[in-house]
Amino acid sequence: MMKKKVIPDVNQKHWVERSLEAVWHPCTQMKHHESFPLIAITHGKGPWLYDDNDNAFLDCISSWWTNLFGHSNPRINRAICNQLEKIEHVMLAGFTHPPVVQLSEKLSALTKGNLGHAFYASDGASAVEIALKMSHHFWQLNNKPNKKKFVCLENGYHGETLGALAVTDVAIFRDAYGSLLQDVFTVASPDARKAKSGESAEDVAKQAANALEKLFEQEHQNIAAIIVEPLVQCAGQMAMYSPEYLRQVRMLCDRFDIHLIADEIAVGCGRSGKFFACEHAGIWPDFLTLSKGISGGYLPLSLCLTTEKMYRAFYSDQTKNGFLHSHSYTGNPLACSAALACLEIFETENILEKNLIQAQELANSFAWAKTDARIEHWRQQGMILAFDIKHESMKNPNAFPREMFSASLDEGVLIRPIGNTVYVMPPYILSSTETLQMGEAVQRALNKALA
Ligand SMILES: *Cc1c(COP(=O)(O)O)cnc(C)c1O
Repeated sequence: MMKKKVIPDVNQKHWVERSLEAVWHPCTQMKHHESFPLIAITHGKGPWLYDDNDNAFLDCISSWWTNLFGHSNPRINRAICNQLEKIEHVMLAGFTHPPVVQLSEKLSALTKGNLGHAFYASDGASAVEIALKMSHHFWQLNNKPNKKKFVCLENGYHGETLGALAVTDVAIFRDAYGSLLQDVFTVASPDARKAKSGESAEDVAKQAANALEKLFEQEHQNIAAIIVEPLVQCAGQMAMYSPEYLRQVRMLCDRFDIHLIADEIAVGCGRSGKFFACEHAGIWPDFLTLSKGISGGYLPLSLCLTTEKMYRAFYSDQTKNGFLHSHSYTGNPLACSAALACLEIFETENILEKNLIQAQELANSFAWAKTDARIEHWRQQGMILAFDIKHESMKNPNAFPREMFSASLDEGVLIRPIGNTVYVMPPYILSSTETLQMGEAVQRALNKALA
């Protein structure tokens, strides 16, 4: 047998520097790393991330909104290890396995049976593609092939594959690819920050719903579905809005025979204060997408929940009338077992109740920001808290996010502002002390970044 060659360290460089050559990092202008070094993470525990020098960073953004119960969580670790001993993966066409059945049944129960059919994928954008394709195909099956346009909200975000990007309205992700994207209708966001003096968030919601009604009146024969992020447009700078908008949209969708897609990839799984954000409005959509938190931030898993009516529409003697969509890792057993462990933690540790207290502590730790003259639009929805830095308070608005990111790391907290919006979206397991530390550290970091 030939002896294996060990690949030598290129030029004996540290592996972090080598990352900049071999790894093309996501959502990054790589040249910025000439002045901002990568953070070399070697391990994590609870809400803390540790670099290779054992510096600790409090993960205030749940590692891109995925982590719910901390890093290296003993219960989730055990569930994955147990599943690993049984079966790591099997295709889900023609085969099934216990974790995917249990998970689908639990999710159905959480929707009180309203969304009883789960279709799986691996990342959020793919779950959005599934909802869009199912809606489109449904109208063909129902002899309304003209109903094929999608409606999305100004400032919305649904992922970056071409179908999901078409219904996304965040210029920085979209502009370079505009000519590749299908035409959509983009309607006003119900963003509560638009309220003029004397107006409430509910007033803004009603105005936005009125604009949507006008579009539906004119175009409903050509519209398949509307897609929204319930209550918080997260990537759109944590724009928050009144649940009244969701109630109005549900009524309009019923009236004009249009599907409602609720993208709960970021706001689902307890983040908003209820398990599903739609529950704040007392409505159910026709499609509900989940990813990010569903596996506790452990493994890539996403899914699209839908109704009995949708399922029945595809149920046919003809193969081509089925939903012939697939991904290699659809319903992966390890990812499903991580998700099941998370749902078990929700149940056995009364997470939704505890989050009410956590959310109050979060508000207290950022009370200073409510009266800070450099800040406006302080807002909170459950375990998401955000505020905007006034433009006149920033010397260089373009550089602010990176300067704030850098200053916060110096203070031992990981936050990643979006434009002039500073936000935290921590795991659900911070102690009262850690929550307080977070608010103080962010305040010190902001003072530095704006000095
Ligand atoms: C993150 C996100 C997505 C995309 O999920 P990926 O796993 O990154 O593809 C879609 N919709 C919303 C609301 C998101 O926050």
